[in-house]
Amino acid sequence: MGTAGARFMVAKQLAASGGLYLELGSTRLAMDPGPGAVVQYAKRKVDLSRLDGILVSHRHLDHCGDVNVVIEAMTEGGFRPRGTLFCPSDALDEDPVVLKYLRHFPEEVVRLQPESPYQLKEISFRTTRRHIHGVETYGFRFGDGDIPNLGWVTDSKYYDGIAEDHRAQVMLIHTVLAQSRPDLPHLGLDDAERIIAEAQPRLAVITHFGMGVWRAHPWEVAAQLSERTGIEVKAARDGMSLEV
Ligand SMILES: [Zn+2]
Repeated sequence: MGTAGARFMVAKQLAASGGLYLELGSTRLAMDPGPGAVVQYAKRKVDLSRLDGILVSHRHLDHCGDVNVVIEAMTEGGFRPRGTLFCPSDALDEDPVVLKYLRHFPEEVVRLQPESPYQLKEISFRTTRRHIHGVETYGFRFGDGDIPNLGWVTDSKYYDGIAEDHRAQVMLIHTVLAQSRPDLPHLGLDDAERIIAEAQPRLAVITHFGMGVWRAHPWEVAAQLSERTGIEVKAARDGMSLEV
């Protein structure tokens, strides 16, 4: 639903910031509905009133700007309670991003814990350990077994074990910076390369581009990463869909 990451890309909407959407069988999950997510879902003709859940990796606005409107859409304005909201505790507590008046619209609100398993109808997923990112943030692996189907490397500073935590057949990597910086808790293309080389997924997809990556042309950068790692790397595009 969108590939923009961080403030400048979101403010300028050079790419959309609607996050990701996952379907497995009849189970539908909206992930990180950032600013304009509801517009992107409408544009792609995804009926939000059929959602089963919403998953928020952390409370930064580019990941949850539209969470309230998506909760209302999922529950038809609260008249038809439905679905589960998964989010870190700090999205609900001090300076909450999920408004109090609509917290009883979903059937359940689940506070994510580190390294824990969750089930949403047919979709099973696990949180990673807490990311290094200022606010409470988790990465995720979807599916079962040693090498599950999908790993989602959300915002974090690089840490030892990040590749192992998210190792999966297909890995989505939030790549905000062209080059990692000690003062910023975000992954750079250099970090993405280390993660891909170590985790050896079947396919890696970079997304959530900051301005630096955008200016470097994500698809060209992806081709260079493929070249250097020997792994297929794609750059996400708004509206792209993947069979996992
Ligand atoms: Zn963030």
